[in-house]
Amino acid sequence: MIPELDELINSKIAKDAEAGVWMCFDCDYRSNNLTHIKNHVEGKHIDSGGFSCHICGKISKTRVSLQMHVLRQHSRGGRSDRNNKVPYLQLM
Ligand SMILES: [Zn+2]
Ligand SMILES: [Zn+2]
Repeated sequence: MIPELDELINSKIAKDAEAGVWMCFDCDYRSNNLTHIKNHVEGKHIDSGGFSCHICGKISKTRVSLQMHVLRQHSRGGRSDRNNKVPYLQLM
């Protein structure tokens, strides 16, 4: 979505080859999961201004949390992407 954001994230992490974990340059956070540390950096150290849900407009701080939001709040039994402009999922 935003290529520069990934570059920025990549510039803030490094892999500790010995320990086999990813390290955050800006704090002591470590993770052996690249996705986790990228999400950590994106949420903690980068002010992206957030990402708004294209369905309900809710702002999520990171792309991952936005994905989680969309999956949890707006998916009903799978792929209904084509109809996502219709707020029929808000019935409950
Ligand atoms: Zn950090
Ligand atoms: Zn939403």
